[in-house]
Amino acid sequence: MSKGKINVAVENIFPLIKKFLYSDHEVFLRELISNATDATLKLRHLTSIGEAKVEYGSPKIEVKLDKKKKTLSVIDQGIGMTADEVKKYINEVAFSGAEEFLKKYEDATKDTGIIGHFGLGFYSSFMVSKKVEIITKSFRDEPATHWVCDGSPEFELKVGEKADRGTEIVMHIADDSKEFLEEHTIQTLLTKYNRFMPIPIKFGVKKEKVKEGKDNKEIEVDNIINNPDPAWTKQPSELKEEDYKAFYRELYPMQFEEPLFQIHLNVDHPFHLTGVLYFPKITNDINLQKNRIQLYQNQVFVTDNVEGIVPEFLTLLRGVIDSPDIPLNVSRSALQADGNVKKISNYITRKVADKLNSLFKTDRKAFEKKWNDIKIVVEYGMLSDDKFFEKAENFALFPTVGEQFFTLDEFLEKIKNNQVDKDEKTVILYASDKEKQHSFIEDSKEKGYEVLLLDSPIVPHLIQKLETAKEKLSFARVDADDVDNLIKKDKENTSKLSEEESKKLQEILEEYISKERYNIQLEALESSSIPFKITQPEFMRRMKD
Ligand code: ADP
Ligand code: MG
Repeated sequence: MSKGKINVAVENIFPLIKKFLYSDHEVFLRELISNATDATLKLRHLTSIGEAKVEYGSPKIEVKLDKKKKTLSVIDQGIGMTADEVKKYINEVAFSGAEEFLKKYEDATKDTGIIGHFGLGFYSSFMVSKKVEIITKSFRDEPATHWVCDGSPEFELKVGEKADRGTEIVMHIADDSKEFLEEHTIQTLLTKYNRFMPIPIKFGVKKEKVKEGKDNKEIEVDNIINNPDPAWTKQPSELKEEDYKAFYRELYPMQFEEPLFQIHLNVDHPFHLTGVLYFPKITNDINLQKNRIQLYQNQVFVTDNVEGIVPEFLTLLRGVIDSPDIPLNVSRSALQADGNVKKISNYITRKVADKLNSLFKTDRKAFEKKWNDIKIVVEYGMLSDDKFFEKAENFALFPTVGEQFFTLDEFLEKIKNNQVDKDEKTVILYASDKEKQHSFIEDSKEKGYEVLLLDSPIVPHLIQKLETAKEKLSFARVDADDVDNLIKKDKENTSKLSEEESKKLQEILEEYISKERYNIQLEALESSSIPFKITQPEFMRRMKD
């Protein structure tokens, strides 16, 4: 047996770790299970390249509670550590990692809202323990090692009793952390952080019914808390529509409504990102629907607040994104300035736009049916993201009060000769409430105008945006007086003169009116009996103003 002192650059790191953000104590379990997973995956790698000449088998990670001894253990069948490795990786690497983390963390908390609290690592076990033991046996043929530390920089190292390969971390839970000796607390933590981790995690046993001949028999099986192969880790070609739906139900067990469609994200360059995003039905009450997307890093849950990573308008979607390239121990503002995060955000926006476009192109009727449930996302996106705006112009729909769907271009084409104002702008008439504006809608229809139904809460802003983006376009609500001032350009409808008469009239008018200063149009308001109209060019009008 030997005793030693952990290399102490900062003597008081242990009290620091203990005090470290009370509410976040729970991340210790995630850290230990991540280490157990890493150790198992390392073994898989070493056996696959022939460096470790042992049977990989089908290893799992066990989380074990012993209420009598007041311990919580995490046990893996991974590569294990030799005594030298414990000295190096636990006493030096883990320690300096934790120290570095605490420093960085302190800096970052000066800003607000840190995102991941990742990286405190092995020493996070001291947030909840008065003593921690490591009993480990390397896949290399060496005796097991037993390390004990009671939360001071002193540790004890001796030969261990362990016969099987792997590592067992035993946490003697501190009196002020008793909740971590409760089954349901641990079960909740495991489902929160480890639900989709890649190695099966066992927590106790459960009863399962099996058929034996004619009888039903109950047997005890391992209670495996995770799904090691969630949909987003697979290739899109491996998945059917039903698999995506099943995964949605797994993610949101309390959600009875099916998603409308999904987008599978899968990219390796210039950053790594996988994920599945779902479009749910989105109602007008958008604040209640935000932030359901879960962020993972290598299948470890990080947060369900993806603000700053996914553009605001897409936080209305649901699903999972998983990327090792998102910095976690930084503030939200630092996150938004990060180059990778910007690229990731742009990539997601582009994929969503492309998906919408392809749905529109391949089955327009089906897309029209979904429009009411997705329009808020599209409109919100057009408003806030110029790149998305450009793409959305191809598929954003503008429904009439009669439930016909047009793209903006199609609609403008339809009304361009019939709904123009004195500045030659095409005027789109719209209603925001079919019931309240009923008589105005009818009035406009009688005059031969088309009326759109634009009823989502952000429409006023979108209208402003469209009017700024398009020179010759303006919107007027059906109950505005603009409706009375529209001009029909359609000559066949409006001109009451023959071609001969028109020519004559033009000549006469030009004798009296300076062509430079006024426009003469041989058409007029429908209601007027005068067969021509004189208007002033915009610049002349503005000069006088
Ligand atoms: P990190 O995981 O970021 O390297 P940790 O503090 O969590 O930092 O762990 C430090 C090191 O200790 C690991 O890199 C690994 O070498 C070793 N280690 C920790 N847990 C285990 C384990 N269960 N099995 C084998 N090695 C482990
Ligand atoms: Mg770790």
